[in-house]
Amino acid sequence: MKSRAEVVIIGGGSTGTSIAYHLAKMGVEDVVLLEKGYLGSGSTFRCASGIRAQFTDEANIKLQKYNIERWKKLSEELEYDINFKQTGYLFLATSEEEVETFKNNIKLQNKFGVPTRLITPEEAKEIVPPLNTDFVLAGAWNPTDGKACPFKAVFAFAKKAREMGVEIYEYTPVTGIIVENGEIRGVKTEKGTIKTNIVVNAANAWAPIINEMAGLDRELIPIKPYKHQLVKTEPIEPGQIEPLVCPPAYNDSYVLQDGEDGGVLCGTGLEYGPTYDMNPTYEFLREVLKWATTIIPALKYVHVIRQWAGFYAKTPDKNPAIGKINYIDGFYIAAGFSGHGFMMAPGVGEGIAELIVKGRVTKVPLDLEWYDPHRFERGELRSAAFQIG
Ligand SMILES: Cc1cc2nc3c(=O)[nH]c(=O)nc-3n(C[C@H](O)[C@H](O)[C@H](O)COP(=O)(O)OP(=O)(O)OC[C@H]3O[C@@H](n4cnc5c(N)ncnc54)[C@H](O)[C@@H]3O)c2cc1C
Repeated sequence: MKSRAEVVIIGGGSTGTSIAYHLAKMGVEDVVLLEKGYLGSGSTFRCASGIRAQFTDEANIKLQKYNIERWKKLSEELEYDINFKQTGYLFLATSEEEVETFKNNIKLQNKFGVPTRLITPEEAKEIVPPLNTDFVLAGAWNPTDGKACPFKAVFAFAKKAREMGVEIYEYTPVTGIIVENGEIRGVKTEKGTIKTNIVVNAANAWAPIINEMAGLDRELIPIKPYKHQLVKTEPIEPGQIEPLVCPPAYNDSYVLQDGEDGGVLCGTGLEYGPTYDMNPTYEFLREVLKWATTIIPALKYVHVIRQWAGFYAKTPDKNPAIGKINYIDGFYIAAGFSGHGFMMAPGVGEGIAELIVKGRVTKVPLDLEWYDPHRFERGELRSAAFQIG
């Protein structure tokens, strides 16, 4: 293992591998990424693969509009097909009050160039043929949202990063951070110490543990792990449930056809935590199937083949903490992504790389004030980011 690096990234999910790739792309020659398990083994390989710009605040809408443009070109850029498809997100309103909320959200999204529109139940059924529209009053439809393969995206970021000289060490848990006189000096791992002056904490659900290793209070940036789960069915006929379909009033439940093999991913808002327990629960299976078969009744006749759990790493306002940690020179964080970290990975990786290399973010519309990791100390909360995948 290397004994010195210009930048050490902790965490090999979509965020860490994207940061590694973008740093190398911007000419940083000596980057090391440390991952305690295998790449993607945190939340990334457990996610529902959804990518959307349908947020309800300016900062997230602008970032995600940019990110969708990045996702569109990522396969070509990384020279590896990550299977990005613009199959849309369809939110369904089940009350007049929700229709009004959707209209306001759509107005805001349109203002920043996201082409979401209000559609009728009949139009929704054209997009998703087996949809049960009995409960639907209207839909918020953005055809430019989509999905990509998390496995291929992480693989592609890591492959390209390695080709540009990044050293990636899997099964290498970080055990300590060396800080002297308020400055980063190195990172200790189970396999040795790496001297460095710059560390990026991309450990998401485990980020507070990493902060504590650097001598900071775990509650300084209060990210907490909440167990969320998914089930997946056997493949169904292509083109049936291509968009992510979500009636938020149904406990934030959602269904979408996996872009890889055509099985249906089903999620719901039932969560457990804070906890680092990753065991799936029977309670979830019952809850998610109740909602999934309400949204798409034909799913009653389709077999479930898998169930698994991962973490929503949540801050109090469900917006991530992205930027410099002011108390320690050379310490950066990009963590706490709740249910939307995969979709943000390209722009967040690019933004953090810009911040490290240029000292500021110029190209990416990454609002560092909005995502300021120190906002919680000041008692500031942003409006809660909508947390469906
Ligand atoms: C059920 C579910 C559905 C979801 N659906 C979506 C979706 O549709 N769209 C979306 O955008 N997001 C979704 N998410 C959220 C998404 O999975 C995460 O926000 C995203 O993967 C975060 O990526 P990351 O790289 O920041 O974190 P992670 O993938 O968790 O990576 C952090 C890494 O840090 C490593 N690490 C921790 N401690 C150490 C240490 N001491 N030393 C070395 N390495 C360490 C971990 O092993 C881990 O691999 C979903 C999540 C779940 C659970």
